[in-house]
Amino acid sequence: VLTLLAVAGGAALASVAGGALALARRPTSLFMSIAFGAASGVLLGTVTLQMLPEAQERASPGAVVAGATAGVLLVWGLDLYVNRGRLAGEQADQWKQVSAFHRRHRPRGDGATVLAGGTSAEELIEGLAIGAGLAVEPEVGVLIGAAIAIDNLCEGLSIGELVLASSGLRRTQAVVARTLRWCTLVGAALFVASLGGWLALRDAAEPVLGALLATGAGGMLYLTVTQLVPPGQARQYEGSAALATWLGFALMLLLVEAA
Ligand SMILES: [Zn+2]
Repeated sequence: VLTLLAVAGGAALASVAGGALALARRPTSLFMSIAFGAASGVLLGTVTLQMLPEAQERASPGAVVAGATAGVLLVWGLDLYVNRGRLAGEQADQWKQVSAFHRRHRPRGDGATVLAGGTSAEELIEGLAIGAGLAVEPEVGVLIGAAIAIDNLCEGLSIGELVLASSGLRRTQAVVARTLRWCTLVGAALFVASLGGWLALRDAAEPVLGALLATGAGGMLYLTVTQLVPPGQARQYEGSAALATWLGFALMLLLVEAA
């Protein structure tokens, strides 16, 4: 129980720390590219080197693929819901149509609200990953929790950056309050989800744990490639994001091997 509280609490506090960091001093784009790159590498490493192999040890190959697919579809569905069913990249042929659609049908709230609300909902899947990881083995849960803490630090940075941008970069009391409120909501969502995940799964059968761990892995993979890789690449200088991604991945190679 102590491990659970420490892991879930640490990862929850990380999102508040990220928001506070963004407010304390506007981070440079180089710093942001390295932070997002490192988080991408750590998450990709956690998903591929730790979570999926642990899932494969416990569930059949079909159950692992089905579980991971469910995780991807869950987060994709949430993405669609928040954006009112229309998604397109800025370089897509459909971008003009989709952005015109979004001008007529505002996404649910402004940029910061969409990000923070969406992130809070995504924390449910991250909480599931922590809960399932701890139920599998304490070390596995701790490693997943550490990776999610880094991810949440970046989410906090993004939320702080967006709230600041929406106020014309003025660091008013309202901006500080709004950033901290959102980041606390994200952290609280993760904390509650981790607790719930662990309580529900601590006595679960191994194949069930394996499949749910794969669900967490699929959701985290979707989040990484849609929310961590693009902002890192968009701000990179001399390949900073890619190099940081490798460092994050190499760190997980070392840690998973040691665990
Ligand atoms: Zn998160």
